[in-house]
Amino acid sequence: MIRIAVLGSTGSIGRSALEVIQRHPGQFKVTCLVAEKSSDALAAQVALFNPRLAVLADKTVPLPDGDGITRWASGWEAVLEASADPETDVVLNALVGAAGLQPTLTALEAGHRLALANKESLVAGGHLVLSAAEQGSGEIVPIDSEHSAILQCLQGYSPSDVQRLVLTASGGPFRGREQETLWDVTPEDALKHPTWSMGAKITIDSATLANKALEIIEAHFLYGIAYKRLDAIVHPQSVIHSLVEFVDGSVLAQLGFPTMELPILYALTYPNRIEDIALQTYDPVRSSPLTFEPIDDAAFPLFKVGVNAGRTGECAPAVYNAANEIAVQAFLEGTIRFPEMADLVSGTIDRIGNSAVTGVEDVLEIDRSARSLATEVAHSLSKTRVGVSR
Ligand code: NDP
Repeated sequence: MIRIAVLGSTGSIGRSALEVIQRHPGQFKVTCLVAEKSSDALAAQVALFNPRLAVLADKTVPLPDGDGITRWASGWEAVLEASADPETDVVLNALVGAAGLQPTLTALEAGHRLALANKESLVAGGHLVLSAAEQGSGEIVPIDSEHSAILQCLQGYSPSDVQRLVLTASGGPFRGREQETLWDVTPEDALKHPTWSMGAKITIDSATLANKALEIIEAHFLYGIAYKRLDAIVHPQSVIHSLVEFVDGSVLAQLGFPTMELPILYALTYPNRIEDIALQTYDPVRSSPLTFEPIDDAAFPLFKVGVNAGRTGECAPAVYNAANEIAVQAFLEGTIRFPEMADLVSGTIDRIGNSAVTGVEDVLEIDRSARSLATEVAHSLSKTRVGVSR
């Protein structure tokens, strides 16, 4: 029986994870559930899964009545308690944004397997996350479909066998459009992803291709591969989840119907596989043809800005991530327009400069400063736009 704590259980990945868990009652048991403020949704999950601990991170939300089986708690301390729960084997981190960093570190320090959907924690604090895994003997198994694909292709090989990792991107809802045509797109347009149904933040990241930059940085830390050996291409059908090119020129790819339930299941059972008849199988004929295109850096500049932040290292990826979170929020609130998200992130990176990261406090501090600077940049962008129409 694998005992699992699900952080972010009321979100898109969290709900998919609970679907997978529910289909395998003999193999998986839920120990802790964590959400931010969705108390009704969390209470319904508690009634179904009877975890030992249920947490709402937001202390201002009243806690539902307990039932004697589940202890309810609120606040950040309780989130970290769930991340370190001694009766848990796997912590599935499906929180959004850099808020996931401390739970990631805590789970690894406690020696757990970290089934990681929250890529932002690895982007913001890559070296810290790796050293937490080393010190606590925890292990990271990715949930992102691209990184799960790479993990599956790498079984039996070492990093020195690898020539190049190629991550695939759907291209998002605006694939093929020029940047000049993106000034008037609305959040509703950007939230219509062509192949995946996901939470709002990652859906906007997919539309700007910031998501692919975050994933390049994630792959760098997960697999220890230099940035010059990491590429991304657009593959609109989202069937090939990534490719690994080996030093002899051979290329392995992992294919599958686009559903997050498959990489979630693999992260729970890795390195083993178990049957799941509910998962839709891949039909090569129905999903053909499979096509590939280069990423359009001019239309989607956030990709290159993010990869450059990764290459720069130190605190640059944390700044990129924090500024990007503010940019997504400002776009969703209607404060800035789609192409301005890249201006906001680049403007923040240029103004904040780079500095060394030696501990989690450094990352938290740089995250705070980058958010506050990015918020200022967002205001100045919206002010300069008053009366100007493109
Ligand atoms: P959602 O927005 O759908 O869900 C986020 C979850 O985290 C909710 O349960 C939310 O609770 C909770 N949460 C958010 N902030 C906090 C906080 N500060 N403290 C505690 N709980 C919090 O996100 P997704 O499921 O789409 O994405 C989760 C992560 O997985 C992201 O890092 C994303 O990049 C990654 N990912 C997602 C994929 C997808 O298909 N969705 C694919 C690959 C990666 P509440 O409901 O109360 O707000």
